[in-house]
Amino acid sequence: MSSIFDVSSAVSRRNFMRLFGAGAAAAATLPNFSQTAFAQAAGQAAGRRGMGERPMMDKDVIVISSNENPLGPAPSALAAVAQAGPTGGRYDKYGVGPGVVKTLSEQFGLKPGYVQLYPGSGGPLDMALMSNIGPGKGLVTADPSYEQGSRAAMKVKAPLKQVPLNAKYEHDVKAMLAADPNAGAFYIVNPNNPTGTMTPKEDIIWLINNKPKGSVVIVDEAYHHFSTHESIIDQVAADKDVIVLRTFSKIYGMAGVRAGFAIARPDLLEKFETLSGNVSLRNTASVSLLAAAAAGASLRDPELVPLRRKINTDIREATLEFLDKKGYKIVPGSQANMFMVDVKRPGKDFQQLMMKEKIAIGRTWSAMPTYVRVTVGTKEEMDKFQTAFVKCMDVPPGAVNASLHSELYIPSELHRA
Ligand code: PLP
Repeated sequence: MSSIFDVSSAVSRRNFMRLFGAGAAAAATLPNFSQTAFAQAAGQAAGRRGMGERPMMDKDVIVISSNENPLGPAPSALAAVAQAGPTGGRYDKYGVGPGVVKTLSEQFGLKPGYVQLYPGSGGPLDMALMSNIGPGKGLVTADPSYEQGSRAAMKVKAPLKQVPLNAKYEHDVKAMLAADPNAGAFYIVNPNNPTGTMTPKEDIIWLINNKPKGSVVIVDEAYHHFSTHESIIDQVAADKDVIVLRTFSKIYGMAGVRAGFAIARPDLLEKFETLSGNVSLRNTASVSLLAAAAAGASLRDPELVPLRRKINTDIREATLEFLDKKGYKIVPGSQANMFMVDVKRPGKDFQQLMMKEKIAIGRTWSAMPTYVRVTVGTKEEMDKFQTAFVKCMDVPPGAVNASLHSELYIPSELHRA
């Protein structure tokens, strides 16, 4: 009989036990896999994603490279999954997914038809981008920013303009409009990935009101809940040309569970469907009943967001204070679960050094090649990060050259199954 551990699992038995804190009962049910089998499985999983074979990551590595939430799903979400589980033999007959859409519509004061649920926000982000850009309709993004925008432009051969963030690490909306006054879409990530910095709402509203007719402003609010700033969703409610993306992968701790949503006027959401001809994207990208149950419970949990925002803010600020006091240069103003720090050498070299200390930190961006992005982990993880960071910064630049080494596998939020 096959099980979830067959073939494609890239998770070692010990790792699985560690991740899920399994007790003896669960242990008894796990098949005994050899390292080779797991290495093969990892290779196959990586190959399926077109990324080639990769060495497996050591189980003891602290992963602060992918902007995930180390807390995982909230207890309220896990309880909802347990409750919904037994009904999982049927399609969503009891309206769990539609219930999430209804909750969102109510919470944001939207008319029916403005919310669409997906397995994560990366899929609808591609749809929002690709349904508004193409060979004759360009995309404008910030630089540095989340690469999914520029990748989508390259995929559909849309002209791409990447506009540097301003001195405060905000999207420079006036420069973005000037870069391509006839663009099909303007992509704003708020808070921005990788800097964690905010762009003022009034600047985004200025862009919405001044952009060319027929274009859209796509606002990616993946990290919104870590900040205390106002959302731009009221502009959707006001029927403006705006598409907002949100995900349950970040503050809600559901990156592996997969749920997210797009909020926009129904005509803009309907354009997503035009991308695939006769294949309904809604059907190919349907949300699992269990993911919907977890999402719904998370939305209805009044403690979740304020509690997790505080935990993240406290740990982030303590880490930044430590780095600042030691004289390291950080990008100020992060309002998210990540920050950037200058490592005074090619960021990739530093990533490799940190991997030797069993800490996987985030990648670097060509606009800021000596800066690395670090995700905020638990307090214990960040204490270990601090010790390793100081040790690695004491290694003279040039002592490790990433291009001379076979690169270690460092997970990234761009690598989604
Ligand atoms: N948008 C931004 C800015 C992100 O950083 C990510 C992932 O890290 C996503 C979208 C997509 O996340 P997901 O598909 O897990 O919702």
